[in-house]
Amino acid sequence: MTHRLPAAPFDVEALIPELAGLGRYTTLLYPRQGDPGIRESSLGGPLLWPADEPWPLCDAPGHWQPLRTPTEVVGPEPVAMVPVAQLFARDVPELPFPAGTDVLHVLWCPLMHDDGGGAVLPRVYWRDEQAVAAGRVLADPPVPYAYDEEFVPRPCTVTPTRALEYPNADLPEGLGRSLGPRFDEIEETLGFSYFETAVTVQSKVGGYPAWLQFPQWPECRCGRRMDHLLSVTATEPHEGRWFPLDERTQDDAAPGERTTTTTEAQSESESEDADDDAIGHGMDMGDLGGLYLFVCPRCPDTPYAHHYDC
Ligand SMILES: [Zn+2]
Ligand SMILES: [Zn+2]
Repeated sequence: MTHRLPAAPFDVEALIPELAGLGRYTTLLYPRQGDPGIRESSLGGPLLWPADEPWPLCDAPGHWQPLRTPTEVVGPEPVAMVPVAQLFARDVPELPFPAGTDVLHVLWCPLMHDDGGGAVLPRVYWRDEQAVAAGRVLADPPVPYAYDEEFVPRPCTVTPTRALEYPNADLPEGLGRSLGPRFDEIEETLGFSYFETAVTVQSKVGGYPAWLQFPQWPECRCGRRMDHLLSVTATEPHEGRWFPLDERTQDDAAPGERTTTTTEAQSESESEDADDDAIGHGMDMGDLGGLYLFVCPRCPDTPYAHHYDC
């Protein structure tokens, strides 16, 4: 299942020919609080983890928990990492799975680290679902004895939904500046902002990173710029261009689409509140920040790197 999204209110490349060729497909994840299974794609959900493989622990000498007063380094016992993402190839075929793998696992140490921009420390694993499922699967993964609650996701189902997007912070240098007046003109005449309709800032796979600050593309040791793998952001759309049509209640519907009776509308309105609370993995990630993961699919061991901003 994927979500239905509203049609783009204008054809980006017809109105702004300079952006031709800059559209990229991204897979929007739409995390919703839930009870994902161990064989399902999820954010913050249980991982299909082989019982005979040690759970990753972080023993970074300087990692700290910001809410401790006074701030002190955590340790020396290593801290268990927390599951952040499990994505199966059947749900997100666009992910650059290395040969022989069809599951991506992302975990991170939920403490602050001075390397990596003062944030969590992610780790990436690629697995073969059948091979793991054929053996014994870890039932009770360890939980961290110290963590920053802003970086521990609640279990969420995902609904990977493919969409075409255009660059925001990644607009080629000079182009963003020269297009500014045209973006303003489009917004005035059509009532839609380029940045609201063509750009996404939410948890997603591929496409453009959901940068909140300036782009910081990491370079691989092979000398090439890494590819964007996954963005995990504190913000998710609750309305507008990127809020799924199939999750809208009558209150959100366009005028003329209202067909329910008052009673139905009331119950829809109540359920809307409940649904609204279920949106997102619940992490504030600092000041509504984002964590961006990158990989080099050209190097044999699929090296990865991350960047955090807020
Ligand atoms: Zn750590
Ligand atoms: Zn490389």
